[in-house]
Amino acid sequence: MAEGPAGSRPVVAVVGGGISGIVAARVLAASPAGVHVLLLEETGELGGRISSGEVAGVPVELGPDQFLRRDPSAERLCREVGLGDDLVEPSARSAGIFSYGRLRPIPRGTVVGVPTDLEAVAESGVVSPAGVERARLDSSLPGPDLTGAELGLEDDPGGQSPAERSAGDILRPRLGDEVVDRLVDPLLGGINAGGVDTLSLGVVAPQIASALSGRHDVLAPLATTLPPPVPGPVPAPGGGEPEQRSPFLGVRGGLARLVRACQRELEQGGVEILTRTPVTAVELVPGQPGSPPWRLETATRTVEAHGLVLALPGYVASEIVKGFAPGASAALGEVPYASVAMATLAFEREQLVLPSGWSGFLVPRNEERLMTAATFLTSKWPWMSQPGTALVRVSAGRYGDERIGELDDGELARLLAGELADLAGVVAKHKAWRVTRFDHSFPQYRPGHRSLVARARRELAELPSVELAGAVLGGIGIPACISSGQAAGGAVADSLLV
Ligand SMILES: Cc1cc2nc3c(=O)[nH]c(=O)nc-3n(C[C@H](O)[C@H](O)[C@H](O)COP(=O)(O)OP(=O)(O)OC[C@H]3O[C@@H](n4cnc5c(N)ncnc54)[C@H](O)[C@@H]3O)c2cc1C
Repeated sequence: MAEGPAGSRPVVAVVGGGISGIVAARVLAASPAGVHVLLLEETGELGGRISSGEVAGVPVELGPDQFLRRDPSAERLCREVGLGDDLVEPSARSAGIFSYGRLRPIPRGTVVGVPTDLEAVAESGVVSPAGVERARLDSSLPGPDLTGAELGLEDDPGGQSPAERSAGDILRPRLGDEVVDRLVDPLLGGINAGGVDTLSLGVVAPQIASALSGRHDVLAPLATTLPPPVPGPVPAPGGGEPEQRSPFLGVRGGLARLVRACQRELEQGGVEILTRTPVTAVELVPGQPGSPPWRLETATRTVEAHGLVLALPGYVASEIVKGFAPGASAALGEVPYASVAMATLAFEREQLVLPSGWSGFLVPRNEERLMTAATFLTSKWPWMSQPGTALVRVSAGRYGDERIGELDDGELARLLAGELADLAGVVAKHKAWRVTRFDHSFPQYRPGHRSLVARARRELAELPSVELAGAVLGGIGIPACISSGQAAGGAVADSLLV
């Protein structure tokens, strides 16, 4: 039997208990629409990709470990749920790239890997002298001025964005292949578990795309848009420049604390949280005005709802909307996803020698390694340590490289530990390991992504009180997901008020 609305209050179902769905539920619960909120999550706990745990008795992040503070939504949420005192900056601020046989520092002045200072690139040794000279041609090479459509800054209502070019297609003719492959791809591609040649610059780095709009060159316009240092709260001794803050923050004890704090707040606010409750189908039910238009099926119950937020990966949302929004289903189903895996390795602390002050390093695709990056967790986050033990996380998997799927956990950990030894000169043997896999977890924002999402939204906008949220919309970072949850929850609440 279908479960009806809670009294006379409208019911809103939020499907997907990752950070986007959690935030949408939070906004709905606090809205003046006075809605009863159900949060339906497939797995046994909330959080989605956010996952904190332990390796060798040491507390550790198993998924994301930080968020950008430039978009304030994540920092604000942490403060609102009482975690303000537990916000911590990474202790190690520098990072490297493995290039030409050794670890080299990421040159200063890069914006998500795109350089602005070629002297710094030359000094770093990440790119050869010939590669640096090639990039210098950017200032003299002629070329057509880039349009917003080519850069992926505009929605093409036709839905296909035929004009949009990939980040690689824009940057390679200006900076040369070497700078793109050894510097841009590891950062811009690495953050998205993808590659510059298949990513939309307008979606993955809108600040760069905006700077290049109306220009044909890259270095000069980008130099003027370098983000200013985030000033610290305390002026430097002697009255000099304020100390520069890290652009990143983490949560002492793990981001799962943010999830738990939100969950407590939701429970206190009367939100019904149903874990182990995958939604298998959603139907649009024609009915009387005021009667709930949405019917959701789960293994154990049917839920009727006046409003719906789908905070799901694109491929899941695509299946769920198929019956009532075929165009949106097709658009969402077109977004490919990359899988990643990480081996967290525990070492005897005194045996582990790592570059001092570094949080880790990236490995360019053209090095043809399995590993994509290493994070020196204990150097970066002092709370991830125990006397005698230090942790390093080695990551693998990106779009177009499916090798991790063919390896069992033990083999993956062994190979990644071997590559860490090889590339970073780690001679210590790890004493414990844990592999975490995130299958189909990184949406690939290809050229045309903005139009795909707009197409899905246009169709859903014709239907009663339904919104999408989550990373599929076009921002992989936690702050973007939080903003998407806020927007979706707010829009559904508003639609129920009128
Ligand atoms: C390994 C890794 C490292 C990352 N590192 C960072 C980082 O350091 N900083 C940063 O800002 N971002 C990072 N990200 C990105 C960020 O974590 C994610 O983009 C974000 O957490 C996604 O949140 P979401 O709510 O949109 O989706 P998800 O977290 O994927 O949540 C979707 C939820 O829907 C549930 N679900 C699926 N199907 C159904 C169904 N049928 N019914 C009900 N529920 C369902 C899932 O179980 C899941 O809980 C990282 C991501 C990964 C994978």
